Amino acid sequence: MKFVKPKVFLVGETRIVEQGLQDYLDHVGVTKWKTDAPSDSEKLAEVMGRLCYRSFEPGMNPNVTRVREGNQTYLGNIINVGHGSVVEHPVMNFIFADVSRVVTHELVRHRAGTAMSQESLRFVRLDSLSAYTPMCIEENEEGMSIFVKTFEHLEKLQTELAEVYDIDNEKKFAVKKKLTSAFRRLAPIGLATTIGWSCNFRTLRHVLENRTDPHAEEEIRFLFAEVYNLVKERYPNLLGDYEVEMVDGLPWVKTAHRKI
Ligand SMILES: Cc1cc2nc3c(=O)[nH]c(=O)nc-3n(C[C@H](O)[C@H](O)[C@H](O)COP(=O)(O)OP(=O)(O)OC[C@H]3O[C@@H](n4cnc5c(N)ncnc54)[C@H](O)[C@@H]3O)c2cc1C
Repeated sequence: MKFVKPKVFLVGETRIVEQGLQDYLDHVGVTKWKTDAPSDSEKLAEVMGRLCYRSFEPGMNPNVTRVREGNQTYLGNIINVGHGSVVEHPVMNFIFADVSRVVTHELVRHRAGTAMSQESLRFVRLDSLSAYTPMCIEENEEGMSIFVKTFEHLEKLQTELAEVYDIDNEKKFAVKKKLTSAFRRLAPIGLATTIGWSCNFRTLRHVLENRTDPHAEEEIRFLFAEVYNLVKERYPNLLGDYEVEMVDGLPWVKTAHRKI
């Protein structure tokens, strides 16, 4: 068996179609509008927010005599007043590797604003097993011994089943799939796997708040601490209100503006 820790890869993010945006700005008569947004995601959220009140510049809407200048100030107010639908527009695409099925079971409970693609254990045959070791197991010699022995035993069963059914010499893919799916029933829930996870920024904020909370499970706290570290400086104006408190060796990412 192999000991692993969750790994986070940010593989995609929102990109502005500059010509399309300029055409829109020309259409509403604010040709020269610019922003100092540090990322396209933050720029898009600002544009979607400003179009609501025609607040790109004063006078566009006769009711608006002053506008908030700058992306940080603008998005800071959006977060402050909880106008969260605006930050649903930009998205991020992650791949989480070496995460257990414990984590993926928890992750899929977040339905709003997400998309998921999970490694299929009907198609991908298990030979070696990898796992995250929770701190309380790692710290206890006997606990660790049971943990490792069980994983090694279950790993051996996968190889034995493959031999019993001679799956390597099976030509029909449909039969291999049926067998692989049957064998996975003897895999532990702590088995490390891979999931692609996409979310919008409103969802990211909600999940960061929920899943780094000290009441959440250790591995998902570890995972979302990694996510936070990867994105906090990339999107400072959408995530700048967070503070970190270390609890039990893991960061609790918290804010006064919960669940916008
Ligand atoms: C510490 C912790 C312990 C947990 N323990 C358990 C447990 O013991 N058992 C268990 O089953 N689950 C448990 N969960 C999972 C939890 O109940 C939620 O299912 C999970 O956190 C997803 O969050 P969410 O409901 O906010 O959904 P999300 O999909 O993240 O949705 C975000 C928000 O959108 C709104 N929303 C989404 N879908 C709907 C809808 N269909 N209708 C109306 N509004 C909607 C809600 O306001 C929701 O909060 C736990 C979660 C945590 C963080």
